[in-house]
Amino acid sequence: MPMLSAVTAARQILTSLHEVMASRAGAQAKLNQIVEVIGENLDSEVCSIYLLREGMLELFATRGLNQAAVHVTRLAVGEGLVGTIAGNVETLNLAEAAAHPDFAFRPETGEEKFHSFAGVPIVRRERAVGVVAVQHVEPRRYEEVEIEALQTVAMVLSELIANAELIDDEETLGVPAHLTGPDRLTGLTLVKGLASGVAVFHQPRVTIEHIVAEDTEAERQRVYLAFDKMREQIDRMASQAEFGMGGEHEEVLETYRMFAYDEGWSRRINEAIDSGLTAEAAIERVQQRTRMRMRQIDDPLLADRMHDLEDLSNRLLRIVSGQLGTAATMGLKGDAILIARNLGPAELLEYDRRRLKGVILEEGSLTAHVVIVARAMGIPVVGRMRALRGKVREGDHLLLDGDQGVVDVRAAPTLIEAFEARFAKNREKQAHYATMREVEPFTRDGTRITVLMNAGLRDDTPMLNLTGADGIGLFRTEFQFLVSATLPSRERQTRLYRDVLDTAGDKPVVFRTVDIGGDKVLPYLRHNEGEAEENPAMGWRALRVALERDGLLKVQARALLEAAGGKTLNVMFPMVTEPWEFDAAKAVFEGQLAFLRQRKKVLPEAIRYGAMLEVPALAEWLDVLAPRLSFLSIGTNDLTQFLFAADRANPKLAERYDWLSPAILRFLRRVVTTVAPFGTDVTVCGEMGGRRLEALALLGLGITRLSITPAAVGPVKELVRKVDMAEIGAAMNQWLAEPPHDMRATLAAWACERGIECD
Ligand code: PEP
Ligand code: MG
Repeated sequence: MPMLSAVTAARQILTSLHEVMASRAGAQAKLNQIVEVIGENLDSEVCSIYLLREGMLELFATRGLNQAAVHVTRLAVGEGLVGTIAGNVETLNLAEAAAHPDFAFRPETGEEKFHSFAGVPIVRRERAVGVVAVQHVEPRRYEEVEIEALQTVAMVLSELIANAELIDDEETLGVPAHLTGPDRLTGLTLVKGLASGVAVFHQPRVTIEHIVAEDTEAERQRVYLAFDKMREQIDRMASQAEFGMGGEHEEVLETYRMFAYDEGWSRRINEAIDSGLTAEAAIERVQQRTRMRMRQIDDPLLADRMHDLEDLSNRLLRIVSGQLGTAATMGLKGDAILIARNLGPAELLEYDRRRLKGVILEEGSLTAHVVIVARAMGIPVVGRMRALRGKVREGDHLLLDGDQGVVDVRAAPTLIEAFEARFAKNREKQAHYATMREVEPFTRDGTRITVLMNAGLRDDTPMLNLTGADGIGLFRTEFQFLVSATLPSRERQTRLYRDVLDTAGDKPVVFRTVDIGGDKVLPYLRHNEGEAEENPAMGWRALRVALERDGLLKVQARALLEAAGGKTLNVMFPMVTEPWEFDAAKAVFEGQLAFLRQRKKVLPEAIRYGAMLEVPALAEWLDVLAPRLSFLSIGTNDLTQFLFAADRANPKLAERYDWLSPAILRFLRRVVTTVAPFGTDVTVCGEMGGRRLEALALLGLGITRLSITPAAVGPVKELVRKVDMAEIGAAMNQWLAEPPHDMRATLAAWACERGIECD
């Protein structure tokens, strides 16, 4: 059948259905008329509608089968052809029905004389609530266009039966087999910890209210506009590299663009509108068809692309229906586990911290900033779990085990119990660490280790007292910029810095000047048009931005200097690559200081300037730079990504290299040795220091200052008290001279032999 007539056929059916639905007849009478309309138009002797009632698929209306079977024939989900269609939420198209292994003969229907069979699930909120089937005598498969017409009809039916309340309510059965019952998904541990709650998708699925269009031309216009808007969004993402905040974004973006401009896709949507559907229904309709086709092709690469197309199709749906908000804008209603493909740190911070219990990312990596923020918030995160839409439904109960990188979906009660027991044990452990608050971390041989914490938001500072950390060794000032819709004013910055210093009291706080760029993108601070970066982590970021747009740094310097009036200000510069950058940044502060002095403002009592060692090149300058520094802070997150040439936000590389590799440890050893004669404080402030085995290795290198995520303060203090610096130092010397095959295993065994817990 040529395309035009397929559209016409579907349109004819829809017009007739529209009339039926608009009539004042009761629901049963309407169904009786509908089977006639479909049967006639598809030239089928039989057309039947089965609907889900009390958990069974009941024959509600038929043309061609025995009328006596109506409301008598009932099939379980999964039973017979109809039950299989509902169970798998999948279309069947068979030339010879009886030849199918799932065929179940029902004598009361009188269907033995019909050979061919085609059935389509009637779907409501991702569940099959019924089946519409056609049959005819002649053994031939239905044409694709006929199947499509039937699928369109099924969409209309879902609207009709929901309005007429003909089916079981949402809670009872009707869930596709793969979405019922327990399931265990494995991913990658990003932030340890346990959480339980209901699944919430960051981008909720759009609910389609109207299926049949009143005005086809108007629907067409809506889709045109939505396509324009979507393409604009994708192009903007590409030019700003804003998408997904890191990850495999380039590859994904390219696919997105390909799909967004794919004429075939927009043509098929237009055809569906021509057949009488609303814009939303047309998009969904086309998506259903694509899903069905893709399912028949078993190819993981294609499955990935399918995932992208789903994403894009949802985006188009959100635009056309105006349902643009994320789950954050709608607010979390109870304990929730958030599911997203990827998130920016700012997006995560939009959620209610009291209700957000855990996060599952389809991508994600250990040192991506969203993960750092989650770690600071004490929210467990599991990453690298693909295609979650197909496995988890909004509202499903989830047990997230961040320790093992596992998520249990719809877990059985016994599993929940076991989980709760572990949860309680964890809480006990936390309570134990809390008792470490007052304990000073001396090693067994009497070295006082300085255990500082990392922070970035006002809400983080109370952790200082809760954990008993010695101070804040890294305050990431850019977080304030990330959570704000506009550039924070000088006054707002001053207020924040002052509050942080007040809360810290006598404890030191090290403010790092803004480190934006890389995976921390500010919508209001954009590149000039056409200057998209290929490698943002190695691009225009941190001090490089600050020195070029020095207005930004001047404002921050003023804010910090004023906030620290009468106190000591510790300030450090990120991503210093060459000494002159440190000098230039310091000069900006000195300029502002002179200005404030002139104005007779209260100045800081002392200013200590430090540099972060994140770019390996700076290590070659340390003998020159160290005398000018009050302190050096090693940012191992960036440092390791540059040493290994492995993007810290790339999930494919998330597990490839080890912080305990001799390359890193030897590098750090060299840094410590070079700086030692100058007496400059050396702190490690990357995520590495917050992991106990890694912290042990750092102690072995003679590093006595760590700035770590708040949750790690207790565990690391406990570790410190069990370590003998001289002993681990000697062992490390040996290992670095002749690296063992597996440094991690060697170190772990060493710790275990001495009863040092290092998980
Ligand atoms: C680092 O790179 O190790 C660091 C501490 O800074 P950030 O993680 O904010 O880049
Ligand atoms: Mg860094």
